[in-house]
Amino acid sequence: MACGGSIQTQNGFQGEGVFPRCPDCGGYHRDTTPAFQGLVLEACAAVIPSSTRLSREFHADDAAGNWRFDTGTGLFTIEAPGSGRSHAEFHTIGLWDEDSGRFRWSWAWEEGSRPPTIKAAEHARAVGKHYWLRALTAPELYVGETEAWHLTMVAAYLSDLPMVAATPAEVGKIFMALHRPVWEN
Ligand SMILES: [Zn+2]
Repeated sequence: MACGGSIQTQNGFQGEGVFPRCPDCGGYHRDTTPAFQGLVLEACAAVIPSSTRLSREFHADDAAGNWRFDTGTGLFTIEAPGSGRSHAEFHTIGLWDEDSGRFRWSWAWEEGSRPPTIKAAEHARAVGKHYWLRALTAPELYVGETEAWHLTMVAAYLSDLPMVAATPAEVGKIFMALHRPVWEN
């Protein structure tokens, strides 16, 4: 594969696209793999409608300040004022730093502890290995926010998870995929 179109990562990533690290030259090139782009379209078509519907049903949008998640239990909780509380199992997909554009798959940054919450990202990685999709197997990529959502939706789609969410972390944002929430009795 020819190397070209590298980005200057030290100046921060401003563009659009998915830029996995190149194993040949160590640079970051835009991913133009048709199979990956097809997968993104398929994932968006499946996950955007279900995630929008579930966010509305469980008031995840109007309770944005009242989410919490516990990596120990793997449980994501939505507090909907006036409607109650719901819980969903969640998977951490990636950590995205909006200043640099760096996206790290959760299996790369949570590698030490191997919590159950990285299963969806690990499954995406396994699919990526099988089909030679570097965007799913490179531990670290440079992406815009739209593409961070794309990667999250691909991981959700491959594990049949209907909902996606992002929440601010100490550095950047954590992107997650969720099972269908269940109301607390
Ligand atoms: Zn290269």
